[in-house]
Amino acid sequence: MAESFSFFQKVNTDFDKAAQFTDYPPGLLEQIKVCNSSCHFTFPIKRDDGTIQTIHGWRAEHSHHILPTKGGMRYSTLVNEDEIMALAALMTYKCALVDVPFGGAKGGIQLDRREYSDSELERITRRYTYELIQKNYIGPGVDVPAPDFGTSETEMAWILDTYITMAPDKLNAIACVTGKPIEQNGIQGRKGATGRGVVYGLEEACSYAEDMKPLGLSAGLQEKSVIVQGFGNVGYHAAKFLMEADARVIGILERNGGIYNPQGFDVEKVAEHRAETGSILGYPGAELIENPNDGLELECDILVPAALENQLTAENAPRIKASIIAEAANGPTTPTADEILHKRGILIIPDTFLNAGGVTVSYFEWLRNLSHVRFGRLDKRFEDSAQHAMRRAVEKATGYNFSEEERELIHGADEEDLVNSGLQDTMITAYQEIRETRMQYRNSKNHVDYRTAAFINAIHRIAQSYMQLGIFP
Ligand code: NAD
Repeated sequence: MAESFSFFQKVNTDFDKAAQFTDYPPGLLEQIKVCNSSCHFTFPIKRDDGTIQTIHGWRAEHSHHILPTKGGMRYSTLVNEDEIMALAALMTYKCALVDVPFGGAKGGIQLDRREYSDSELERITRRYTYELIQKNYIGPGVDVPAPDFGTSETEMAWILDTYITMAPDKLNAIACVTGKPIEQNGIQGRKGATGRGVVYGLEEACSYAEDMKPLGLSAGLQEKSVIVQGFGNVGYHAAKFLMEADARVIGILERNGGIYNPQGFDVEKVAEHRAETGSILGYPGAELIENPNDGLELECDILVPAALENQLTAENAPRIKASIIAEAANGPTTPTADEILHKRGILIIPDTFLNAGGVTVSYFEWLRNLSHVRFGRLDKRFEDSAQHAMRRAVEKATGYNFSEEERELIHGADEEDLVNSGLQDTMITAYQEIRETRMQYRNSKNHVDYRTAAFINAIHRIAQSYMQLGIFP
């Protein structure tokens, strides 16, 4: 089955499907859908061997209905204008869905980072940042990048340093980028936030016995078998937290092959093995999956695509055996695959919701940077003392003495506790709202799946923002 949709067309098709369930004026819907601005720039870079190469970079700001705009920075050979605009649009809907006050943006550079040395990557990242500054595509109140495919906190540190150098007197300059190293004004918990959010989202989705029953599954994550595609930032953390939630991670797929063990992996040990050998392959006791794409079709309860877009297609969708597709990556399911999987009764938990943990904690980091104070700094000690006073009172009144272990559980919240609790609350609330919308249209002629329900909720929130601006009646 041929699939002729570009990525941005796919996002817009999903938008149009959801827009039918609203009664906003067509002009407003069009304004929400279009990409407000995008920029393609090229610059030369001197490679370590002295040759000069032209680098192509993009930044798209999909929606200016709230500022700043927010979205990751991607290094991949697939980067082009359409991909960046599609990802920026997804950011707009994602932020609206989880009620994070940003417009959507995305940036990227067309390269395979494995072909560049660290110093080349640093030169490229700094020059890219300089281009963003020149074109007014970066700033704490303008547009705030974060890590994405092929980038990490290292690139974010280079972006910060370049921006601060160019704007030395800006008090809030440290909020120009998120996903920074902790020592450079980052926030505890950001690195694992997207993967942790995936697990909070899945935990909530799987907690409804009546939703799990048609899939032939029991409620809860315990003992559910999971296959994860992509063992990078999102895939590794999702797998790790799924294991901690007592799910069984039976398959891990990377570019060069996959590993399989029906008993489940110790995810930390697989990560250690990769750190030692450079690959997940050859992990003791694991079966080798030579072609990682074959791993997507293995029997499991939950399939977590956490690599790139267009992984579940018209071609492989009829053979997918998972009961739940947990879209940790952006756009992993093509429109035709979406239809096929849907008809086959497979539950798809959409990217717009499921990977929103990253931007949620980026929001916390941005707030922390603007307030110039660590979360918990003012109240942690006070809470500690209050909780211990309460413990002593309970001990005195009941005669029961808390053990050393129990005492250790009693403490005021530190920054990571607060971040994780805010993240969990965000994911649970957003899921409940999506589920409610889906229920509302349960008997409608056009069946509303979770992706459409998520888009409907996002459209309502963005439309309200536009109305508050007084632009639309
Ligand atoms: P990453 O670069 O840290 O990891 C990606 C991993 O996928 C790498 O290990 C890579 O080798 C692997 N990979 C690439 N192609 C593959 C293939 N064909 N099969 C199997 N593995 C493959 O990137 P990331 O930050 O984890 O991002 C992954 C996805 O999650 C992207 O779609 C990204 O947009 C999305 N996402 C990331 C964040 C974030 O906070 N980093 C937030 C929201 C969404």
